[in-house]
Amino acid sequence: MAIRGECFCGGIQYQINGSLRDARSCHCSRCRKAFNAQASAYALVEAQEFQWLAGEDMLTSYVGEHGFGLQFCQKCGSTLCGVYNGAVHGVTLGCVNGDPEIEIGRHIFVASKAEWEVMPEGVVQYAEGSPEPG
Ligand SMILES: [Zn+2]
Ligand SMILES: [Zn+2]
Repeated sequence: MAIRGECFCGGIQYQINGSLRDARSCHCSRCRKAFNAQASAYALVEAQEFQWLAGEDMLTSYVGEHGFGLQFCQKCGSTLCGVYNGAVHGVTLGCVNGDPEIEIGRHIFVASKAEWEVMPEGVVQYAEGSPEPG
């Protein structure tokens, strides 16, 4: 079954004809701002398996350093996906509908987490980046 997602207002919808991989949560100060949360919740997709179903014209982008950017809804502000050099690189787990059958496998940059965040016990965490790529 394809994985589907949409923004808060529902104007933008997408489908992934494959599976998500390498779900992670980054607690760095930049991700806190980009994801409006205590951390990111993000998983990788194959660009060729990702397809917009509706509202692609409502997307707007912010491209930061090193060609990595985020795409979000102009109307409601939901951040839907990450892009790298113009291609979809991953999706924000918050905009996925239902169960994408993946769990966040690691928490990274925990040394830079917000003072107000309390880490759950038992999660795999790294003070900075993790040894795995991506
Ligand atoms: Zn929206
Ligand atoms: Zn980060």
